[in-house]
Amino acid sequence: MSGVEPQSPDLIQRLTRRLERERAARQEAERLLEEKAVDLYRSNTALRQLADSLEQEVATRTSELQRALEQARLATNAKSEFLAVVSHEIRTPMNGIMGMAQLLEFTELDETQREHLALIRKSSDDLLGLINDILDFSKIEAGRLDLDFHDFDTRDELNAVARLFGPAISRKNIRFAMLLPEDTPAVLRGDSARMRQIFANLISNAIKFTDSGGIRVEVRFSDQSDGRVRLNCAVIDSGIGIPKERRDRLFKAFSQVDASTTRHYGGTGLGLAICAQLCKAMGGGISVESVMGHGSTFRFSLVFERGGMAIRPAPKSGVVLEGGLPSMRVLLVEDHAVNRTLALALLEKLGQQVEVAENGRQAVDQVQTQAYDVIIMDVQMPVLDGIAATLEIRNLALPSQPHIIALTANAYARDRELCIDAGMNDFLSKPFGLQELREKLQRVSGGPLA
Ligand code: ADP
Repeated sequence: MSGVEPQSPDLIQRLTRRLERERAARQEAERLLEEKAVDLYRSNTALRQLADSLEQEVATRTSELQRALEQARLATNAKSEFLAVVSHEIRTPMNGIMGMAQLLEFTELDETQREHLALIRKSSDDLLGLINDILDFSKIEAGRLDLDFHDFDTRDELNAVARLFGPAISRKNIRFAMLLPEDTPAVLRGDSARMRQIFANLISNAIKFTDSGGIRVEVRFSDQSDGRVRLNCAVIDSGIGIPKERRDRLFKAFSQVDASTTRHYGGTGLGLAICAQLCKAMGGGISVESVMGHGSTFRFSLVFERGGMAIRPAPKSGVVLEGGLPSMRVLLVEDHAVNRTLALALLEKLGQQVEVAENGRQAVDQVQTQAYDVIIMDVQMPVLDGIAATLEIRNLALPSQPHIIALTANAYARDRELCIDAGMNDFLSKPFGLQELREKLQRVSGGPLA
């Protein structure tokens, strides 16, 4: 037989069943696919929601953190500002205490009274040191440490440091040597007062913690490739030493080796923290090595510019009194009664002809009727403050403008700049004594008036 065999009904049935099975399977697959697609869509939506809420959460957390950070920053600033204001306010009564104690020294006193007075001087010196440390520390924390760059005589400054400790060294009966190398640069440019502060802190610590042997201060200078000069210094003592585990913390604030140190030796634990910050600000660093019972060595470095040549103004001629000061017409402007009495007494002691005014307004009135060589002007005063009074005086047509010295308890360079910008010539920080006042007046007589 030939041709196409008719399909058997069996085969057709089988094929139909297979077709139906396959259709059913395809439908099932499509259903599954759809189900999966829906699942996927749901998961996707859930994921997107999760991502959105996470983003939201992150944004909320971030703004909470930013708020907390801002609050912390404000709190730190408020604390630093508070410390600065408090230590500033304390300087005004301190001026009265220290100045009056100094005036008492010039009177007839018996042995006991002199001893008591010495204790008042010592305690007020300590208190002033503490206030200065707190003020410095608050300035550093608030990022307001300003360096005062000027040319200085290197040997003069370092010798002044050594001289400062003469009495303390002889009281403790220990040796002291400060070695300056042959190649000490004559003039450097930088903040010499801050440099002295670092030396003074390290040397006074060395004296405090050394009972036998002595202290050696080594100084070296090296040229840097950028043309500046690096001062490397070591303060080496043979004192009690510092335990190894405490050395890292020494340069952090309020870090005394242990609480008994405070009771026994006094101090706040701020000195080294301030030194470390000052060294950093002046391009250097500080470190310590120590052997318990044998002594400690503090090393630090500072970077200075090379200074110009002439730094001393030639003295001007004039009527010179004992102590090298000519007698000048001085107007003292001070609202604080104790400080006015004190400044008046000191000025008279220096042979000056003094008149007083109690605020800036009175001072402006007085300069229009009377000629003055020098005005010593408190900055913070009622009615008219020292800055405003100076601005008015500088705008007056006077036969000759007086030399104006600001009297300020404020130690911020920015405040001093305000005084200079207003037309003042110089400033005297409270507390001040006879010596500081004499130096300021000597400058008036030593150089031309502005
Ligand atoms: P303080 O004002 O308390 O002296 P410092 O920051 O200057 O603050 O010093 C912190 C502490 O470091 C001191 O209290 C003392 O325990 C220790 N210290 C500092 N210098 C020396 C030293 N030369 N020898 C031994 N201990 C020292």
